[in-house]
Amino acid sequence: AKEVEENLRSPICCIMGHVDSGKTKLLDCIRGTNVQEGEAGGITQQIGATFFPAENIRERTKELQANAKLKVPGILVIDTPGHESFTNLRSRGSNLCDLAILVVDIMRGLEPQTIESLNLLRRRNVKFIIALNKVDRLYGWEKSKNAPIRKTMMQQTGDVVKEFKMRLNRVQNQFQEQGLNSMLYYKNREMGETISILPASAISGEGIPDLLLFLVQWAQKTMVEKLTYVDKVQCTVLEVKVIEGHGITVDVVLVNGVLREGDQIVVCGSQGPIVTTIRSLLTPYPMNEMRVTGTYMPHREVKAAQGIKIAAQGLEHAIAGTALHVIGPNEDMEEAKKNAMEDIESVMNRIDKSGEGVYVQASTLGSLEALLEFLKSSDVKIPVSGIGIGPVHKKDIMKAGVMLEKKKEFATILAFDVKISAEARELADKMGVKIFCDDTIYCLFDKFKSYIEGIKE
Ligand code: GDP
Ligand code: MG
Repeated sequence: AKEVEENLRSPICCIMGHVDSGKTKLLDCIRGTNVQEGEAGGITQQIGATFFPAENIRERTKELQANAKLKVPGILVIDTPGHESFTNLRSRGSNLCDLAILVVDIMRGLEPQTIESLNLLRRRNVKFIIALNKVDRLYGWEKSKNAPIRKTMMQQTGDVVKEFKMRLNRVQNQFQEQGLNSMLYYKNREMGETISILPASAISGEGIPDLLLFLVQWAQKTMVEKLTYVDKVQCTVLEVKVIEGHGITVDVVLVNGVLREGDQIVVCGSQGPIVTTIRSLLTPYPMNEMRVTGTYMPHREVKAAQGIKIAAQGLEHAIAGTALHVIGPNEDMEEAKKNAMEDIESVMNRIDKSGEGVYVQASTLGSLEALLEFLKSSDVKIPVSGIGIGPVHKKDIMKAGVMLEKKKEFATILAFDVKISAEARELADKMGVKIFCDDTIYCLFDKFKSYIEGIKE
């Protein structure tokens, strides 16, 4: 019988976790670069997409399994500042991220953003593994550069192994408290409900081969359908930014299909649909990340899955977190424009019809959607009467101010990870509009909750 050739694309993997758990360093270690030390204050400032080609993965994992069959072309890993790019990797409310790595610092255990990431992953139904990072910080750890984890463990003293087990146990208990079963990956035979834990060090590289091999094998074994390449373009805008020499560009993740130079595209914009033509398609060099080199490789065409920077005219009002459509030769332009705006309209529809509620502002459509989802599922009912994307300006304060006469406690802006202009603040003070801002959803929610409870008392 003729065998069906599997045509798989690279899985898209988000890396999430608490700040300082080592997300960027882990990617650095795999890449063999040093982005982490180049970052301002060590904080991830920009979204990055790194493509790890299969041949590099094979090289890095040969000690574990020399003949591993890699059916995917590689892995596309997205490092997220906060959860922004995770939430922007969306399409019509579903997630485009195929799998995720939730990074936990073994010395610190679960932290607030670990839990927030966990909840996001579960709400969006994204499969993930836990990287238990910084094992080299266990007291007395004997380094063994880039070694598989079990091999390394056998070289450690009894005390190190004891401390490891104690800390592993603590993390497992903390996950249990969140309703999650977890187990060391090589003991986890079921792999169903129980999440695999992969111990690693981003500094000395122990456990990195395990991590890479596990991700690839897991993806190609359990996600064949999802990873089967299709021609229809599926592409989402992660970020809109100015790049010297290229003007305003959009960073996108191409999940399926091919993009070509000269393609006519339509993108969702804050002032309506944007129709434009792809001037250049730029990618970082393989194994490099978009933000590292600053120089990009131009392409005539790019096939999914890949992170791409697109330069084109008129992109300044493009909204991150929305789909990018390619207009086919036989496609109706008006239809395409309408489709492009559907993304934002579906979120608009979540606004409370009563006309009473708070005003919610976020940096991107994806993060706005995540916040709205959270508000909807929270125990305290918070109706939303208006939404905005981008920095808070005077016009937003005016809109929120409408509630002063309807329901005073809702004359409030919940600003999620956005800047607030000085004039906006001034106006808010003058009008009596309250602004709550934070860069994590649940902190923002807690601030508002205690305010509302304070009023009720
Ligand atoms: P991120 O905020 O999650 O991206 O964390 P970073 O990658 O910026 O790392 C935060 C800090 O932890 C930096 O000082 C890193 O050098 C350090 N770090 C990250 N991974 C490890 C590790 O495996 N071992 C040790 N000892 N330090 C680490
Ligand atoms: Mg980082």
